[in-house]
Amino acid sequence: MSVLVAEHVDKTFVNGDVSTPVLHDVSLRVEPGELVALVGPSGCGKSTLLSILGTLLSASAGRCELARITTTGCSDAELTAMRNQHLGFVFQFHHLLPDFSALENVLFPIYGSPTSDRARAEARARRLIERVGLSSRIDFRPPRLSGGQKQRIAVARALIMRPKVVLADEPTGNLDRESSDEILGLLRELASDEGTAFLVCTHDESIAQRCDRVISLVDGRVVATTG
Ligand code: ADP
Repeated sequence: MSVLVAEHVDKTFVNGDVSTPVLHDVSLRVEPGELVALVGPSGCGKSTLLSILGTLLSASAGRCELARITTTGCSDAELTAMRNQHLGFVFQFHHLLPDFSALENVLFPIYGSPTSDRARAEARARRLIERVGLSSRIDFRPPRLSGGQKQRIAVARALIMRPKVVLADEPTGNLDRESSDEILGLLRELASDEGTAFLVCTHDESIAQRCDRVISLVDGRVVATTG
């Protein structure tokens, strides 16, 4: 059963008299534990699609589903609750808080959760940090971590709430080849171990090729799905 669905999604930005059509009849599905790449030239609508799937932006037409719940038409409060429960985000820039330790950064999403059990969350955060290979740096603040290490902590943070889906927008865009390959390897392992689905927006052909499936977007349309 798919954990992320888009059906016939259109998006047109309207600013005053100017309409910019960006997405046209986009349909896709992502299954639990899948690692899927979303590729396409700059400006083709990848980030817009990710924002719609992540419920941060509404579609002009069509329907989206997250964790088997239709998100289209939900209230802001319902969407916030769904994002907290079912979604993790990883961005090109790590967005870690510089004055907090790696552990505190990973724990950060639990503060927005009404049912946070601090002790259990901390145990999970420690396990995740171990899982991403950074136990020895658990008390380090981000300025003392390398770019690749910061992104691993960002991946651990995305997983703290056990989301069904992680949306990653150019997660390796700021990293060298070796660190990029390490992050991709990590996402692959976590997808299979945790059953989390990852949808990874990327320009990097070698990253896309290592995903289970590649969805190609051109001028706001899905032109090919491989794998
Ligand atoms: P990608 O992530 O593939 O580079 P984007 O989704 O960022 O592409 O952008 C797709 C198109 O949508 C671009 O032409 C961009 O200028 C346009 N766009 C994005 N956001 C807005 C907005 N808020 N208002 C108008 N146009 C936008």
